[in-house]
Amino acid sequence: MKNLILLGSPGSGKGTQSAKLVSLMSYTHVSTGNLLREEILKESELGVKIKKVMESGGLVSDDLVVELLRKNLSLSDKAYIFDGYPRNIEQAKTLANILEESDFLAVFLKLDTDDLVERLKHRRVTRDGKYIYNLESNPPKVDGVCDVTGEELVQRDDDKEDIVRNRMKVFKETISPVLSLYRGQGKLVEIDANRNLEDVYNSLIECI
Ligand code: AMP
Repeated sequence: MKNLILLGSPGSGKGTQSAKLVSLMSYTHVSTGNLLREEILKESELGVKIKKVMESGGLVSDDLVVELLRKNLSLSDKAYIFDGYPRNIEQAKTLANILEESDFLAVFLKLDTDDLVERLKHRRVTRDGKYIYNLESNPPKVDGVCDVTGEELVQRDDDKEDIVRNRMKVFKETISPVLSLYRGQGKLVEIDANRNLEDVYNSLIECI
């Protein structure tokens, strides 16, 4: 199985689709956002620094993110879904070095960003970000509680409106060269993500 690089703006469904792919296929999910949130939960000195950057909606330094990423990969025996990495062209070049000869497909979950602020307002997650719900389109069975772990569901600090707007801005500014790189290599597929979860999932499966 090829590695899968999931690209898309915040709220485009990368985490949700990854969870579905992992439960039905033998992928391993690696989300740099989740790795960073784990570091914050440890309340380490590093975690405090990361929290400040994340709460502004900016990007954490490439060196730090790649260090966390490398620690969590075992490419020789697993096929990964990369969620939230790469975010810019430098990270895409780093990922090419990490992947070496391992084959990959990049999928861009394309979405009009205008209604994303609204979508993210309704997103609720477990504190580590691993289980994701939407109060309107994909609610938990019991209000405020994760179906799988029973944990309390929270709103991510960076899902607040003004921060979301900055995250969108950062995304738009940094992703184009990444898309051009993968398009030029014939490795990019674009999927309309402005549809329900099942339809997007079916399109993803067709590409894989
Ligand atoms: P996500 O969970 O993918 O929406 O990421 C949440 C936040 O974590 C982003 O807004 C960034 O602050 C940070 N982050 C996640 N992945 C990266 C990355 N590859 N490079 C830099 N910062 C990242």
